[in-house]
Amino acid sequence: MASRFSGALQLTDLDDFITPSQECIKPIKIDKPRGKTGAKIKIGEDGYFDISDGREQKLQKVEITLADCLACSGCITSAESVLVTKQSQEELLRVFSERKYTDNMGVTKDISLVVISLSPQPVLSVAVRYKLTPEEATKKLAGYLKSLGADLVLDMTVAEDLSLLEVQQEFVQRYQEQQNNPAAKHLPMLASSCPGWVCYAEKTHGSFILPYISTTKSPQQIMGSLVKQHLSKLKEVTPAEIYHVTFMPCYDKKLEASREDFYSDILNCHDVDCVITAIELEQMLETNGIPLSDMPNIDLDWPWSSEGSPMVRRHTGSGSGGYADHVFLYAAEQLFGQSDVPLVYKNLRNPDFREVTLVKDGKEVLKFAIANGFRNIQNLVQKLKRGKSLYHYVEVMACPSGCLNGGAQIRPVSGESSRELVQQLEQLYAELPQAIPTENKLANKLYADWLDGKDSDKAHAVLHTGYHAVEKTDIALNIKW
Ligand code: SF4
Repeated sequence: MASRFSGALQLTDLDDFITPSQECIKPIKIDKPRGKTGAKIKIGEDGYFDISDGREQKLQKVEITLADCLACSGCITSAESVLVTKQSQEELLRVFSERKYTDNMGVTKDISLVVISLSPQPVLSVAVRYKLTPEEATKKLAGYLKSLGADLVLDMTVAEDLSLLEVQQEFVQRYQEQQNNPAAKHLPMLASSCPGWVCYAEKTHGSFILPYISTTKSPQQIMGSLVKQHLSKLKEVTPAEIYHVTFMPCYDKKLEASREDFYSDILNCHDVDCVITAIELEQMLETNGIPLSDMPNIDLDWPWSSEGSPMVRRHTGSGSGGYADHVFLYAAEQLFGQSDVPLVYKNLRNPDFREVTLVKDGKEVLKFAIANGFRNIQNLVQKLKRGKSLYHYVEVMACPSGCLNGGAQIRPVSGESSRELVQQLEQLYAELPQAIPTENKLANKLYADWLDGKDSDKAHAVLHTGYHAVEKTDIALNIKW
């Protein structure tokens, strides 16, 4: 089975039989010749040879065992995979028919309202798969989901905008704090919206890396708070009576939704109850034998007490939400009084690792990067550990090419390469109507009416989160990148 997780969370089966993947790395120990630093390896036709001391010595073939995998903690654990199976398409169909769900504590609850929130990347995946425009795909999806039993189908633009507004504010505060206290670990600020990256960081780099990760919640989790805490009041139902489903590009989002941080004892529920991906939606349609084109066209819902129009939108910058671009432009203006600065990225090792700088008075005052994919993340973390990172902000995304290429997006058709498919998705993303966070009337009204204003304690409590280093126990192999 191909993994639908990001590369950082490779999982090849759900019952703990984990096949070593190309991403698995096991360090081997080579005794260095006295007085020499470093080891030299030669790759021969029949194996690897240590040639550090001028003599060829064949190295033992490395095997990665299940014990190594469990100790590594780079992949998801079986406990986490159970949480993932609780968010399957079968579970969703059962919930639709019974209007009941069982939470992670094993408590069964009645449902008054099924709310489905659509993120743009899987909508585009569906559009490409079924040869529809993004607008047609959105309406057909709303028609299909409502035919199954959804009460409200929403776009997530407001949550994406709130996330960007918070991130850019957080960055400026951190930048200023770093100037006042250069010894503090405020920078580089590392993006937090990719759970593949966050999960990897918590398990593999723990307390070293966590202070650098932005505390702003991802759009999925902000949407979760909005639906459970605010929409529930508008609809006069309890938060636990809402079954909230998000439509996402990867399985990693299921892990994010299951985090204890996003369960409220007071509300007695998670913010997001189920995550369904593009590839699962394709399977649901195929299982039912229903062509998406036969579904009625239904507009997205707009349940909010504010002006606005429901629509799946793009943000300037990357197809992962445009974090680096938004933070860069905001910081250039707020910190250096420079508006509309050009954003010209320079590719580094590959197009998935690129950087952009703002130079003032001959000095690089802002240095940002986008690092997509596991290999680039490893390089970034290594640089950080050696104190060699010069970045102020890095948009870190676990998937190569970012969220448009998420692990659970619909696969290319035969004869089409993954690269060609991603290019199509990037093209469609660029054609979506553009969202401008500062001009989002609903976001501004939510700050005023629901969150007690920007930078308030409530805004911080609702829109931010924390991370936890995962302790490794019974470590057979403690991999340090
Ligand atoms: Fe999911 Fe996007 Fe992260 Fe990939 S890059 S794991 S699609 S959030």
